[in-house]
Amino acid sequence: MKVSKDCVVSLEYRLHLGDGKTVDSSAPGKPLAYIHGRGQIVPGLEGQLAGLSAGDAKQVVVVPAQGYGEHDARGLQEVPRTMFPPGAPLEPGLSISAQTADGDVIPITIRELKGDTVVVDLNHPLAGKTLHFDVTVHEVRQATAEELEHGHAHGPGGAHDH
Ligand code: ZN
Repeated sequence: MKVSKDCVVSLEYRLHLGDGKTVDSSAPGKPLAYIHGRGQIVPGLEGQLAGLSAGDAKQVVVVPAQGYGEHDARGLQEVPRTMFPPGAPLEPGLSISAQTADGDVIPITIRELKGDTVVVDLNHPLAGKTLHFDVTVHEVRQATAEELEHGHAHGPGGAHDH
């Protein structure tokens, strides 16, 4: 069958940013499984997978607006160095997890050290990047009623095994 809404798709993928250097990938022999048509993967990739079948391979280029969004200058903020644990290895380019006032954990990237303050970037680390995916579709199957109810794929590569 072909990839279409509410299919469970399992795929191997590799992501690079145009220079061929892998920044993310599925684990070897462990394809990622998701329910198609529900925004579980970046929209620019999801749209290009529609109609593919098991065994198909494709290279997909996704512009920032269809990926993790444009880089938003408002995401750059200066925070006091005292906000970080003493001895934290603060280096430009380093990504760390931070907890917001709401308790959400978000990735932030350190951009610059300025005396007593640190410039951090709250944008997604891949914001503003053009994404290059190499994907191979391993399996396409109808989602079970339980998967549709839970809103995620079960089994290998899925959210959890039951
Ligand atoms: Zn479940």
